[in-house]
Amino acid sequence: MELLDGKKTSSEIKEEIAKKVIQLKEQGKKTPHLAAVIVGNDGASRTYVNAKVKTCEKVGFNSTLFELPDSISEADLLAKVDELNNDDDIDGFIVQLPLPDHIDEHKVTLAVSPSKDVDGFHPENIGRMMLGLPCFLPATPAGIVELLDRYNIETSGKDCVVVGRSNIVGTPMSVLMSRNAKVGNCTVTLTHSRTKNLAEVTKRADILIVALGKPEFITADMVKDGAVVVDVGIHRIADDSKKSGFKLLGDVKFDEVAPKCSYITPVPGGVGPMTIASLMLNTLKAIDMK
Ligand code: NDP
Repeated sequence: MELLDGKKTSSEIKEEIAKKVIQLKEQGKKTPHLAAVIVGNDGASRTYVNAKVKTCEKVGFNSTLFELPDSISEADLLAKVDELNNDDDIDGFIVQLPLPDHIDEHKVTLAVSPSKDVDGFHPENIGRMMLGLPCFLPATPAGIVELLDRYNIETSGKDCVVVGRSNIVGTPMSVLMSRNAKVGNCTVTLTHSRTKNLAEVTKRADILIVALGKPEFITADMVKDGAVVVDVGIHRIADDSKKSGFKLLGDVKFDEVAPKCSYITPVPGGVGPMTIASLMLNTLKAIDMK
């Protein structure tokens, strides 16, 4: 078993981006600028946004964090999005999800200009992805593709099973793994909560990508010997023995599944850092696409 080390791979990508930023500066071009909007005080969301801002500093991007209160109205949030759409200095921005219940996430996603949508959530970018046109790919699936690519995982002709069909992970993942590309050409099965006999389906997977949001749901008996397993799930579980007061678990029961795999992503240190690296790559792309 070999680890698909997202931490190490994302560090390599960040070094490559930092070099590119130096080149841009030497050519007198603008420093890439990524903005993030966070609404409310959700601990996990704050951790993710802070990690994104910190990564911007590491690679030499400018970054701006807009912290808005839980009580902000939908209209005021949409006005902020509009302001960022029209700010020429900002190359790309994200609105960290989830949003409070009184705000329609779909409306906010639609309001982000597709040319600054570095999370790749806007329907225009999703549509372009479906057609294989230039676009911002959704950050998490794109990060997984990049990870598989850098580890030279053979995907062509393989059976790939994706567990979970969310708009931001499972569904775009299934599209990317089935397209005609170096990482792609899989025969893909997309599963969800109504899938019957899930274990029988997952056991057929040469490549198993799990994004269902339930800690340690995938057990060893659900995985084929030699499979490549990508665990997208991330859960904070209370743990007094940790300084932070919690430990992180994935959707896969790592200790028992890992020995059966040819490759597996750890949690933490797998898909999470690759998502952030993708966001940085998309921000660079935003400049190229201008
Ligand atoms: P969602 O909650 O939006 O979607 C979960 C999906 O899993 C749904 O399609 C649901 O099916 C399916 N599902 C739920 N229960 C089962 C089951 N028993 N059997 C089969 N399918 C099931 O989750 P996300 O895609 O947003 O996130 C998934 C996980 O990934 C979470 O832990 C999240 O925190 C993590 N995540 C990690 C990221 C990273 O960078 N590492 C980025 C984004 C997410 P149905 O549609 O039928 O309800």
